[in-house]
Amino acid sequence: MDLYEHQARDLFAEHGIPVPRAEVTESAKEAREFARRLGGRVVVKAQVKTGGRGKAGGVKLAADPAAAELTARQILGMDIKGHTVRRVMLAQPVDIEAEFYVSYVLDRAAGTFLAIASAEGGMDIEEVAATRPEAVARIPVDPAVGVTSAVAARIAEAAGLPPQTVDVLVRLWDVLTREDALLVEVNPLVRTAQGHILALDGKVTLDDNARFRNARWGENAESEHDEPLEAQAAAKGLNYVKLDGEVGIIGNGAGLVMSTLDVVAGCGAKPANFLDIGGGASAQIMADGLDVILSDPAVKSVFVNVFGGITACDAVADGIVQALEHVQLTKPLVVRLDGNNAARGRAILEERAHPLVEQATTMDGAARQAAELALVSNPL
Ligand code: ADP
Ligand code: MG
Repeated sequence: MDLYEHQARDLFAEHGIPVPRAEVTESAKEAREFARRLGGRVVVKAQVKTGGRGKAGGVKLAADPAAAELTARQILGMDIKGHTVRRVMLAQPVDIEAEFYVSYVLDRAAGTFLAIASAEGGMDIEEVAATRPEAVARIPVDPAVGVTSAVAARIAEAAGLPPQTVDVLVRLWDVLTREDALLVEVNPLVRTAQGHILALDGKVTLDDNARFRNARWGENAESEHDEPLEAQAAAKGLNYVKLDGEVGIIGNGAGLVMSTLDVVAGCGAKPANFLDIGGGASAQIMADGLDVILSDPAVKSVFVNVFGGITACDAVADGIVQALEHVQLTKPLVVRLDGNNAARGRAILEERAHPLVEQATTMDGAARQAAELALVSNPL
């Protein structure tokens, strides 16, 4: 999960990294008020989870509070690389003497962390990296040692950063490790005309596996989902992606779900979603999954495709039967159970004999059935 710049800024500040004073708002009127409190002149910055805002016109200097209101009005609602700007940050402008780039990133291929730093930071860092890679230092960081002052001094020296940046480099490593981040980036880290080091822009990507430890960002996580059903599913911990077809799909394991999408498409229907219930197909997960899928008006039939492994098919069948107690089934459900305890699972569903639940023994057969049911109830 990526954080917004203003959230990254708050984290930096909590870890003692110097940042400019700033305020966030959704309203241009309030932007004027905040600008006044920040001293009149401010930088108005679009808050969207994408880089290159400066070049897209999403970062502008405003000379006074009235100009800040006008600029905020321009930037709010703007589209930057497919992201609509809903909030702006107003930051105190600083007198920049030099712009640097620093980041720590998990290098999965190397199995370690990497410090990336350059004395030529700013909006053209991608170009610098592409055309003059020697201007960007890449130094592996041993996670068992971390970034001590000595390590930070080595990074600064390799990148040609002034020694005053060492303290920020150490603190930034703290942000990475203490906040469960996979990436922390400051671009630009600047030296002001007064000789101060300040982080002017930040990007932080948190590890989703640590989401339970980072509840404070929960609200932010939801706003990542433009699709309301995806937000609803994410809130229930389901791995759900909305697609634009008519056959709802529930499967266990990403590989099986993906091949299910293909088979359904091969039968002439379009998948309405991707829903992976993973290993634990409990009644609760089934009920939650069906709930999400059935709330999609585009869904005309649902295909449950389960290959019993550690979670056996009879447990999945029990889950479906219990889910039927909680969820009002309004569309036909085609179930294919195979693998561990498949026969018992099928017997459980047969006994339940729900009028809208059908079973099939093969994946192809089930896909055909689900596709036909979807197309019949939705004639072209
Ligand atoms: P992005 O990386 O999305 O383009 P930045 O926040 O890095 O956005 O802003 C782009 C440029 O605007 C920076 O490289 C810096 O030169 C300038 N800038 C950003 N914030 C400030 C500030 N508070 N004071 C002065 N200049 C700023
Ligand atoms: Mg930047």
